[in-house]
Amino acid sequence: MQAPCLPVAPAAPAARRSVQARVAWGANVVTVGGDAPVRLQSMTNTDTVDAIGTAIQVKELALAGSELVRITVNTPEAAAQVPYIREQLDRMGISVPLIGDFHYNGHRLLTEYPACAEALSKYRINPGNVGKGDKKDRQFAQMVEAALKWDKPVRIGVNWGSLDQELLAQLMDENAARPVPWEARQVMYEALITSAIQSAKLAEELGMRHEQVLLSCKVSGVQDLVAVYRELARRCDYPLHLGLTEAGMGTKGTVASAVALGLLLQEGIGDTIRVSLTPQPGEPRTQEVVIAAEILQALGLRSFVPSVTACPGCGRTTSTTFQELAKQIDDYLRAQMPVWRARYPGVEKMKVAVMGCIVNGPGESKHADIGISLPGTGEAPAAPVFIDGQKALTLRGENIAAEFHQIVENYIEKRFGHVAETA
Ligand code: SF4
Repeated sequence: MQAPCLPVAPAAPAARRSVQARVAWGANVVTVGGDAPVRLQSMTNTDTVDAIGTAIQVKELALAGSELVRITVNTPEAAAQVPYIREQLDRMGISVPLIGDFHYNGHRLLTEYPACAEALSKYRINPGNVGKGDKKDRQFAQMVEAALKWDKPVRIGVNWGSLDQELLAQLMDENAARPVPWEARQVMYEALITSAIQSAKLAEELGMRHEQVLLSCKVSGVQDLVAVYRELARRCDYPLHLGLTEAGMGTKGTVASAVALGLLLQEGIGDTIRVSLTPQPGEPRTQEVVIAAEILQALGLRSFVPSVTACPGCGRTTSTTFQELAKQIDDYLRAQMPVWRARYPGVEKMKVAVMGCIVNGPGESKHADIGISLPGTGEAPAAPVFIDGQKALTLRGENIAAEFHQIVENYIEKRFGHVAETA
């Protein structure tokens, strides 16, 4: 006998279970973990010695939606510029917290450049390259001492490209002694997780509060990342920074990041995310923020920009009108968001549909807040517009695009402008 039908519940990301860290600059306190929204992070690719160039890129990333921005601090010259970068940002009214990315010499830079240590809001420590042999713990402790002195959180950021080789060798030896040895890849996973958790515990033994420590264990394979983070999340409740390292370029990097982060975020794993995309020539650095925001928005975790639903087109439509209109509307909505965020609260949840013909056009448009169903090949040259699920008017003629654009603007002003006035 067939089982009775049950209502299908909407899928939703699982609840997260991390403690909450605070990454702050002045009055801008970005909470990470616990019940805070999953945060967007990015990283500059300017030379940090170029303080103006770096400040401009940080500003661009922040305006694109990045809530935390990491900068490379690799030399004394770079460390010396960090306070000036912070100063420039403050002058421009950009309060996004800066994270210092340290490798090899972080212990010296944070000690010898106190203004740098003070101007940063968090330090990234890579336990794989903090020092070798007996220097390792001592230099790690120096970085933690700086964090304690300036009251900054740290991220223990493990990466399989720079994994602690001494720890890996030790775990390989232990593995060889097992009656049934693990696969080499499993030993690698264990080394990543152990390196992160051991270092976090050491930071706490040195005086850091539990909620001042964040972790990451980045790898470049999707299934590797999923395996490692599932286990990392099972073993600890530190806030987790999530990203597929060296994701690659263009479509490959975007898809791999979206799949890996999507799988984990759906399981409630990940408190901040970064998409480590290799920019294509001429592509703005902000693209990684746009993609990270789209991942969170697609999962229903957060809303950043109004979404445009557009059909792919098919043999029923031979013109590119609807593609052009969808792109125009999408570009326009994104470009306005830095201003609209404050002026029109809630506009980021708006849904706009731009459809190619009568088959799915009216139906999809009714599901959106505002939608247009353009005429397909052979259909009457009319484009019905739907507002809040109802057919509101029909556009005809040469100026359909401009008229629809104006209708969207009027709708936003009417629906969300009122919220701002009464707020
Ligand atoms: S809405 Fe029409 S044009 Fe668009 S994909 Fe569907 S059938 Fe094709």
